Amino acid sequence: MKKINLHASDETFTVQKIFCIGKNYAEHAKEMQSDIPEFPVVFLKPTTALITNGEQICIPTISKQPHHEVELVVAIGKEGKNISESEAENYIFGYAVGLDMTLRDVQSEAKKKGLPWTIAKGFDTSAPVSSIVPKSFFSIPNPIEFFCTINGIEKQRGKSNEMIFSPTKLISFISKFFTLEVGDLIFTGTPSGVSEVHHGDIIEATLVGFTSIRHQVVFL
Ligand code: MG
Repeated sequence: MKKINLHASDETFTVQKIFCIGKNYAEHAKEMQSDIPEFPVVFLKPTTALITNGEQICIPTISKQPHHEVELVVAIGKEGKNISESEAENYIFGYAVGLDMTLRDVQSEAKKKGLPWTIAKGFDTSAPVSSIVPKSFFSIPNPIEFFCTINGIEKQRGKSNEMIFSPTKLISFISKFFTLEVGDLIFTGTPSGVSEVHHGDIIEATLVGFTSIRHQVVFL
């Protein structure tokens, strides 16, 4: 079982499933030359992909083009199925910032052949996640802001109110097909500005006002 620290607490959060959403920001869909989706694009990463602050991001030799995708992560605090959008807020435990590390060349090849993205998106160390900040720390409905830098240079910045599908819409949609459990995480998609990372790069991702993570990229 993978555990993540809770912000400003000695307690931990045990991670169950890791859901990820593709193309949830209009500008990112544009940069990937994709249409804006009618429904959320959902995929999973195994829990073995999870790493926490300070651990290395290890890029498999199969890829020459790994990309960073900084994302707001929703942590689920209550079990449920077929959750309505109006009830969905009650299922949110808190928020974190995460990196959906992606082997873009491997993903593009898979897309071309109509094959799954599992290796491109779910390899070991592909899901760095910060400590989880309980939702009581946020003044909802103010947008939650997050960003990432590579070697100190800002590459991506996003806000929760810029999403095509809001966290409550995502919870409602995902729970039609999957039982949400306490400990599930939802990576909510990346804003524009994704770019390639190289051996030795330092990636930092920040949930503005609360917490950040710092990871070195290593090509195996
Ligand atoms: Mg992503």
